[in-house]
Amino acid sequence: MTRKISILGATGSIGTSTIDLVERNREQFEVTAVTAATNVEKLADIARRTGAKLAVVADERRLGDLQGLLSGTGCRAAAGENALVEAAVAEADLVIAAIVGCAGLKPVMAAVECGKTIALANKEALVTAGALMMDAAAAKGATLLPIDSEHNAIFQCLAGSRLNDVSRIILTASGGPFRSATAQYIEAATPAQAVAHPNWSMGAKISVDSATLMNKGLELIEAHYLFGLPSEQLDVVIHPQSVIHSMVEFVDGSVLAQLGSPDMRTPIAYALAWPGRIATPAKRLDFAAVGRLDFETPDLQRFPALGLARHALESGGAAPIVLNAANEIAVASFLDGQIRFTDVAAFVQEALNHARYGTPRSIGDVLEIDRVTREKTRGMMKASCS
Ligand code: NDP
Repeated sequence: MTRKISILGATGSIGTSTIDLVERNREQFEVTAVTAATNVEKLADIARRTGAKLAVVADERRLGDLQGLLSGTGCRAAAGENALVEAAVAEADLVIAAIVGCAGLKPVMAAVECGKTIALANKEALVTAGALMMDAAAAKGATLLPIDSEHNAIFQCLAGSRLNDVSRIILTASGGPFRSATAQYIEAATPAQAVAHPNWSMGAKISVDSATLMNKGLELIEAHYLFGLPSEQLDVVIHPQSVIHSMVEFVDGSVLAQLGSPDMRTPIAYALAWPGRIATPAKRLDFAAVGRLDFETPDLQRFPALGLARHALESGGAAPIVLNAANEIAVASFLDGQIRFTDVAAFVQEALNHARYGTPRSIGDVLEIDRVTREKTRGMMKASCS
C-alpha cells in the first residue's frame, strides 16, 4: 500500500532529502502536496517529478509564476498562509513539517488539529507552542515523529521502554565550526564561516544556530515537549564526530545510543517508514575508520546561547517564544552582514531581559508574542547601530 505524504518546505534541505528518499521508493510513497516560500522554480520541478496535486508558495506575488510553470501538469497552484494550511491538512497519511522557523507553526498546528501523523523537522514550531501542540496532539490523536536527528535517535532508543524508567536524555552536539576557536576568532566570524558546518549539510538558519549552539538549546526545549522530561533530566554533551546522534540513560544505569553516519536521510527514512524501516544510501559506519569517539562539556562562556535556551526552558511561559523570535531576527541580520556573530546571543539575551508576557493560552497568543518580539528586536538592533 502506498503512503500519501504532504511535504511542507519541500524545496529546503530536509525537503530535498525527503524527495530523494521518495524517488528511491516510488512504489511506497505518493506525494500529494508540496510547499515553498518563494522558490517556485524548484517547487514546480518537484511537483512535476512527484506528481503532486497541490503546490503552494507562501509568497502570493509568486503565484502567477507558479501557475505558469505548472500549466498542463494537473497540479493546482495556490499561494499564501491559508494555502499552506490547506497543504498541511490535505489528503495525506503523513505530513513532513520542514518549513524553517515560526512560519511553520500555523500549518503544523493545523495538521495536529486534524489528528495527522506529522514527521517534525520544524523545531521552532514546537519550541514556540510546545505545550499547546502536545495538548492538542493528545486530544486529537495526532502523532509526532521527530526528524531532528537527536530526537529521532532518542525516539529509537525509547522504543518499547517506559518513560518512568528513563533517568536522563543526553543530546549530543557536534560543537559546530567554532568548537575549538578562541573567543576573539568567534567574535569576528563571518556568515560564510558560520554556515560551514564540519559534519552536516543544512539550511543557512540551522547552520548558524549550530555554530552558536542555539540549535542545541532549541533541541533541549524540543526534547522537553516531545519526551515530557524536565530540564534536570536533559543533558548536552559535545561529540565532535557526530556518530552518536543522542543517548538515553535508564534508571538501572544502562545507556542506549543510536549511531550512524551524519546523513539526514536516516532519520527522515525512519519517520517515513515508521513503524517499519526502508533502505537509504547513507554511508555505513566503518568503526575502525572512525577510530575514536570524543566527548566534551559545552563551554557556556564562548557559546552563551545554550545557557539562554536552558534558562528559557526553565522559565517556561512565553520565554521560549521570545528566545526563538529574537534568535530568528538576529540570525537573519547576521546572515545579512548587519550584526556580528556574537551579537546574536547578545540580542536574544536583551530580548529575554525586556520580555513581560503571560503564558500563551492559544496559538493566537503565541503568534502575537512572536510578532511583538520580532518588532522589538529589530528596534534594539536599529538603536544599537545608530
Ligand atoms: P531550509 O532553509 O533549507 O529550507 C526551508 C524550507 O522552508 C524551504 O522549503 C523554504 O522555501 C521554506 N520556507 C522558508 N520560509 C518560509 C515561510 N515564511 N513560509 C513558508 N515556507 C517557508 O531549511 P532546512 O531544511 O535546513 O530546515 C527546515 C527545518 O528543519 C528547520 O526548522 C530546521 O531547524 C529543521 N532541521 C533541519 C535539519 C537539516 O539537516 N537541514 C536537521 C534537523 C532539523 P524556499 O526554498 O522557497 O525558501
